[in-house]
Amino acid sequence: MNISRRDLIKMAGVAGGILIGGDAKAENASFPPSTDDAPGVLMDTTICIGCRKCEWNCNQANKLSLEEMSVFEDKSVFKTHRRPTEKAFTTINVFENPENTEKPFYIKIQCMHCIKPACVSACIVGALQKSKEGPVTYDAAKCMGCRYCMVACPFQIPAYEYSDAFSPEVRKCGFCFDRITKEGKKPACVEICPNEALTFGKRKELVELAYSKIHQNPVRYFHHLYGEHEAGGTSWMYLSALDFAKTELPSLDSKPIPEFTEKIQHGIFKAFIPPIALYGLLGLIMYSFRASDDKEGERNDV
Ligand code: SF4
Ligand code: SF4
Ligand code: SF4
Repeated sequence: MNISRRDLIKMAGVAGGILIGGDAKAENASFPPSTDDAPGVLMDTTICIGCRKCEWNCNQANKLSLEEMSVFEDKSVFKTHRRPTEKAFTTINVFENPENTEKPFYIKIQCMHCIKPACVSACIVGALQKSKEGPVTYDAAKCMGCRYCMVACPFQIPAYEYSDAFSPEVRKCGFCFDRITKEGKKPACVEICPNEALTFGKRKELVELAYSKIHQNPVRYFHHLYGEHEAGGTSWMYLSALDFAKTELPSLDSKPIPEFTEKIQHGIFKAFIPPIALYGLLGLIMYSFRASDDKEGERNDV
């Protein structure tokens, strides 16, 4: 039986409605309003050379292991599409250039720091927060390890420290919060990029920059700024030469995903839904968002 994404969303909506006892007035998760000064990064995938220095500097800045990062020239890592893990918050993956197989395109994957983050909406104890400055932050002291955030994220970003038996944490890119909000620096990955494939700045200005690039060079770019509207908008945005459907970025509409997940969360308290059922419901919602485009990458199983 074929079930369309629309059907799945409807089913999830119905399930959410049942959980909240038909209460259509469930509050919306409140996120700080995105300001004109909110930070963002624009990745121009047509410029990236796949040097992986951004990966290395991310690990360095976050005091993560550098062992597996020592050989940047090792292109064998591109044989598989890697996902961010608890040991590496960002990865560069390759995707084919149909016009020049000698010169593939590269794409950087990390937390998108969504404007209305589903992970925050799914976190019932407030361990994940959308800060007023823009980055989505994590407080390990509040985290109860439920991993709902991992199921809710449409970009499959949060990773879990399964290897730590005593105090496992959820790990993801923090947008170099201290560097960009207190030290006036760029994120570590942006700072080291030798080709200016990554531009850090005010999100609003990055949107203008992206459209001016497209207009100045309409042949070079696919006419779509990924992240401007997807899932309600993200802080990280992308330009590409190819249709984004040919990359590993998921095809998402502009509706913020918390509108679905928060209904489920409200239902937890009203109906005492056991976690396994909640995983199922959140999973159903996220599957519906990913079903058409989940081509690559291995997810850390919840
Ligand atoms: S990409 Fe995922 S983890 Fe990052 S802010 Fe968005 S929902 Fe949260
Ligand atoms: S695992 Fe994720 S959703 Fe659960 S408490 Fe921790 S941060 Fe929140
Ligand atoms: S440092 Fe810049 S050019 Fe190198 S892989 Fe990262 S984004 Fe691409």
